[in-house]
Amino acid sequence: MFARSAFRAAQPLKSQARRYATESAPKGGSNALLYAAGAAAIGGAGYWYFGGSSAAPKIEAASPPKVAFAGGDQGFISLKLSEVENVNHNTKRFRFELPEGDMVSGLHIASAILTKYKGPNDEKATLRPYTPISDESDKGFIDLLVKKYPDGPMSTHLHNMEPGQRLDMKGPLPKYKWEENKHDHIALIAGGTGITPMYQLARAIFNNPNDKTKVTLVFGNVTEQDILLKKEFEHLENTYPQRFRAFYVLDKPPQSWPGPGGFITKDLLKTVLPEPKEENVKLFVCGPPGLMKAISGNKVSPKDQGELTGILKELGYKEDQVYKF
Ligand SMILES: Cc1cc2nc3c(=O)[nH]c(=O)nc-3n(C[C@H](O)[C@H](O)[C@H](O)COP(=O)(O)OP(=O)(O)OC[C@H]3O[C@@H](n4cnc5c(N)ncnc54)[C@H](O)[C@@H]3O)c2cc1C
Repeated sequence: MFARSAFRAAQPLKSQARRYATESAPKGGSNALLYAAGAAAIGGAGYWYFGGSSAAPKIEAASPPKVAFAGGDQGFISLKLSEVENVNHNTKRFRFELPEGDMVSGLHIASAILTKYKGPNDEKATLRPYTPISDESDKGFIDLLVKKYPDGPMSTHLHNMEPGQRLDMKGPLPKYKWEENKHDHIALIAGGTGITPMYQLARAIFNNPNDKTKVTLVFGNVTEQDILLKKEFEHLENTYPQRFRAFYVLDKPPQSWPGPGGFITKDLLKTVLPEPKEENVKLFVCGPPGLMKAISGNKVSPKDQGELTGILKELGYKEDQVYKF
């Protein structure tokens, strides 16, 4: 059971926002102003991965575990859907069984997998990447968190699937290779399901006691119900108040919402992000094309990050300080 009871009194955003880059945050986290409204909704829920009283490392056997996604010329493997959970009005969590119960996925942080589906009337197969939110050390399954788009072939197919059915997947699709303490401070700027690679990164960092990276999350959504993985991130805020902070922005906030409304703005990012001159900072951006365009410019292709434009460029960040998922 998780209850967010240890907030300190709210302070103006600007006076507190940059502080933890150099100072310890007071006990209990420092995002009360932005989060108090969401606290009540979270109290009764359990959580998947950050749950429990500490983020103790998982101990692996001496011999490396078998991996499901081997890459190379392995091609697609067919995985059975074992469980579906409704997360909100348009998003479900899907658990797929790996071919053998003692296999791990074989994905390293941060990577995705590629799904393939060809419907009976389709001329060609639909291929779409997804970022599993299960732990890399979980054995026997992977979890996908997928939002449904009304006319989207793959997300609609997934949302129509029943346990027992199968889906072809291939991987890993490596994205940004994380190593412990690779950066002193990272910022995760996400919109909607763009949160999944950010969650992978945050989970890897905070599940590793040797990793001391500071993490700032800025997460934009339309409504409060759209905020995915919120209880997992709230748990991080409470457990690591000196190293993890999150700022939620809602396009359509409820009246009681204490945080920012509208889109993620330059002013907000200037206030909460580590400054460009800070040593060894990295900003990760992932979200719908409109968000990418406004914040960092869109990625050209999986191998071409494209030019850095938008708010991050205006704020003085350099191309090598930004990674677009
Ligand atoms: C590396 C990578 C990892 C991804 N991981 C996830 C994940 O973990 N969970 C998840 O739900 N999705 C994820 N996506 C998005 C996913 O691959 C599909 O694009 C999405 O599910 C829509 O596919 P579709 O075939 O249903 O619809 P499409 O035919 O691809 O799109 C349907 C409509 O939705 C719009 N659209 C598509 N994607 C988005 C988006 N992200 N934001 C806003 N509008 C969009 C399209 O412009 C179109 O109008 C990821 C994408 C990439 C590149």
